[in-house]
Amino acid sequence: MLKEIEQLLVLQDRDRKIRALQTELKLAPTERKDFEDKLGVGTRQLEAAKLRAKEIEVERKKLENEAESKRTTIAKYNTQKFQTRKNEEFQALTHEIERYERDVRTIEDRELELMESAEQQKQTVAEAETAAADAKAQFARQIQYLDEKIAAINSQLGELAAERERLAGRVDEDLLDTYNRLFRSKSDQAVVAFEHDVCTGCHMKLTASTSAKVRAGKEITHCEQCGRILYRQD
Ligand SMILES: [Zn+2]
Repeated sequence: MLKEIEQLLVLQDRDRKIRALQTELKLAPTERKDFEDKLGVGTRQLEAAKLRAKEIEVERKKLENEAESKRTTIAKYNTQKFQTRKNEEFQALTHEIERYERDVRTIEDRELELMESAEQQKQTVAEAETAAADAKAQFARQIQYLDEKIAAINSQLGELAAERERLAGRVDEDLLDTYNRLFRSKSDQAVVAFEHDVCTGCHMKLTASTSAKVRAGKEITHCEQCGRILYRQD
């Protein structure tokens, strides 16, 4: 294999590693956001559970006051009932008292239901609290892992960049320019294998003369379709 091709293949390998690491680095903010979103879900669920608990308590208090006010009215009517001398008024008050008592029973039933709901909601809040704490701990671990990964990638990138510079320094300048241009424009495939007279970059069949040149392996040969640099797989 041509010495230049060997050099370019090593260079291409490092460039691909650099590109892969850069891509991974670009994904880091998205990963961070995903973690934050998951943390947000847990926090929101806890807030919603607490809010519901508060709503139940507010409604229970409201019913308690309502029942209390109706009991006061019943007591008042009872007093009036035994003070009146009019039969008609006595009947009306009896009727009203019965109605109020029915109301109170309905309210009391509802209060019992709400007390049960409050108990259940207390459990839900406790579970949501545990879940939110777990999510928070997980988030801290994930962020730590992500930060460590980013630091490791940056350090690898630093090493690769230095190595790349050393390698590139050994390649002929014009050839390096061509390689760099191809690497950027041909999806990280500047130097590709030639197999069964076909360029593995664009999958087109090469002309007989190009094939012969690649086989001879004496000079840098480009695919006449895509322009990539070809090498023979030994
Ligand atoms: Zn090609």
